[in-house]
Amino acid sequence: MMLRVTEIFCSIQGESTHAGRPCTFVRLTGCPMRCVWCDSEYTFTGGTHMSLNAVMDQVHAFGVNLVEVTGGEPLLQEDVYPLMQGLIDRGRTVLLETGGHRSTARVPHAVITILDIKCPGSGESAKNDWSNLERLRVHDEVKFVIKDRGDYEYARDVIARHQLVSRVAAIHVSPVHGVMHPRILSEWVLADKLPVRVQLQLHKYIWDPATRGV
Ligand code: SF4
Repeated sequence: MMLRVTEIFCSIQGESTHAGRPCTFVRLTGCPMRCVWCDSEYTFTGGTHMSLNAVMDQVHAFGVNLVEVTGGEPLLQEDVYPLMQGLIDRGRTVLLETGGHRSTARVPHAVITILDIKCPGSGESAKNDWSNLERLRVHDEVKFVIKDRGDYEYARDVIARHQLVSRVAAIHVSPVHGVMHPRILSEWVLADKLPVRVQLQLHKYIWDPATRGV
């Protein structure tokens, strides 16, 4: 079993209800999407082919309970499933960050899925796999990256139409870093009393945003 890996590193989890916790990240290579604000284009190509055991060993060496499988789009690779199950079997808490265009049907039940729902401002909203919303579990989380007012209203409508508030552990709205001021997004959320979390990408405030592997 092989995986194409861009990087494995330990840092502070920056997005989700686990933000602020030490976390080992397994960043898999490849993504067919081209979100206009993507901050990880370096995952689109390259990467290193690693055996499943080698990935597990590197994660184990960091000695951190929380592990996030991310990308790129991690669900592109067939062997991501035994990776997630293997991490669960070793007692890790596993987060999966997925862009929302690949089916989550085979994600192991113990994995906490952080499901991106792409808004129109990303340029990729037509690719959302809406069946993923039906599979959400109460421990899962949903994230909308917001570029402008149109994105905010889109997110607000999706939250209402799919009754997400009562179905997941948390809903995050995250302003596009350097494009949308968090205060403006916060004012919209407050005006609507929307039961979501305004989320800043914590790692970008701790480290240089241009630095990989943080
Ligand atoms: S899905 Fe994620 S990795 Fe792929 S282009 Fe969009 S933001 Fe970038």
